Amino acid sequence: MTHRTTPNFIGGRFVDPAGGRWLDNTNPATNALLTKLARSGAEDVDAACQAAAAAQEDWGARPPTERADLLDAVAQGIEARFDEFAHTESADQGKPVALARAVDIPRAVANFRFFAGAVRHDETGFHEMQGHLGRGALNYTLRRPVGPCALITPWNLPLYLLTWKTAPALAMGNTVVAKPSEFTPRTANLLAEVMRDAGIPDGVFNVVHGLGAEAGAPLTAHEAIAAVSFTGGTATGRLVAAAAAPAFKKLSLELGGKNATVIFADADLDAALDGATRAGFANQGEICLCGSRILVEDSVYDEVVAGLVERTNALVVGDPKDPTTNLGALVSRAHRDKVEGYIHLAQEEGGTVAAGGSRPALPSPFDNGNFLRPTLITGLPPTCRTATEEIFGPVVTVHRFSTEEEAVAMANGTRYGLSASVWTSHLQRGHRVAAALETGLVWVNTWLLRDLRVPFGGVKESGVGREGGIHSMEFYSELKNVCLQL
Ligand code: NAD
Repeated sequence: MTHRTTPNFIGGRFVDPAGGRWLDNTNPATNALLTKLARSGAEDVDAACQAAAAAQEDWGARPPTERADLLDAVAQGIEARFDEFAHTESADQGKPVALARAVDIPRAVANFRFFAGAVRHDETGFHEMQGHLGRGALNYTLRRPVGPCALITPWNLPLYLLTWKTAPALAMGNTVVAKPSEFTPRTANLLAEVMRDAGIPDGVFNVVHGLGAEAGAPLTAHEAIAAVSFTGGTATGRLVAAAAAPAFKKLSLELGGKNATVIFADADLDAALDGATRAGFANQGEICLCGSRILVEDSVYDEVVAGLVERTNALVVGDPKDPTTNLGALVSRAHRDKVEGYIHLAQEEGGTVAAGGSRPALPSPFDNGNFLRPTLITGLPPTCRTATEEIFGPVVTVHRFSTEEEAVAMANGTRYGLSASVWTSHLQRGHRVAAALETGLVWVNTWLLRDLRVPFGGVKESGVGREGGIHSMEFYSELKNVCLQL
């Protein structure tokens, strides 16, 4: 059987890697070979960066409205191939097709529409002042592109996160070299086709595939790259930051999380249980924002655990194409092994598996896939490794607290600080706890409700900088102030 290849996209053309090397890319639900993926090296990265640099001046000089119209055409192009995108994302990543249809692909479309609108309505500052000799002076601020941007993305929300960076980068007049995750590469190439067909000029959007150390590292360090936006693990983020710093490249880092779902006794418990279950297991628990630690007030602890066990056991794991499936496969065998390792660690640390804990029995060909039942663990101290390290899979620990202060201290007791969700019907408590949590995002009585205008990012080891709305526009542009003496 021959397989289609997934080559690079450089200067408006699909090209094979210079070294002629390819990686096997498999479907997580069956481990069948999906494609041969370009295994790029420094030479391919250099070609992509040169293409981006060559296209920069023309793209950056185009009127923002022209760029906005092209982004709208890209949004339309994704919509026209919606099913193909959804099925490809699911086959690459392991997630249910229904989830890709409901979340990933609509968000990719929305990202282009949103930033097309944002650049059309962009405003910059004007400051009138008293100048020298009593004469007035005017300050006005110009927004200019930064230059070619390296966009490095993970495997959990492949197109969703790639477009979250690409749309504002292009809107602000930058060219792009994208390095998608080697586990989930194919929707980036579909996007490249859409870009080409929509009339995005050659060299404005480039994709280099391959391994982080071989393709990602030379991209981050390349002299043509002016800004690096990275989403991925905290350990990788450290390497990216070290590579970008000596050349003073603009840097945005969206990193790992170990987010708390805090349930107070005064919460609407049905809503809290539904929310905590969704936060724990959506996308197989492979979302940086997933609530992997559930903190529950003493007086309702038993009731909440019983409700969580019931809901967790009701989740359907299996064929990602089946519309009734809630959890698909984990992205790779190695990742499934890592997540399973945490279930074993939890037991060594004294935890009890209250739900899940094992692989599901599935018919062929899914018996060969990377499936794991959604797993709840109780009885662990909140400071143990299972409860403080990022697992990034369908494993959630449940802990009890007796006071609001204790809940906040527990929630803040990790090196991460990305997000949290708080469930309470006490308005003042909701505000108070939200203010005290050391995270970049807090949801009260909901989870993963996202407005594209709001600042998105983490504190502590969850990242540096904010993206979203004006924050993305600021990151992907340079402001220049002009002061004019009247
Ligand atoms: P990862 O860090 O292993 O890889 C992310 C990307 O970086 C991939 O494209 C990879 O090839 C590349 N890479 C690896 N080494 C590199 C290097 N030395 N230089 C440059 N690039 C390199 O992360 P992952 O396993 O793909 O994704 C999971 C992680 O991403 C989790 O920690 C998760 O929390 C995080 N994440 C964070 C957010 C957020 O917004 N904060 C969103 C999604 C995922």
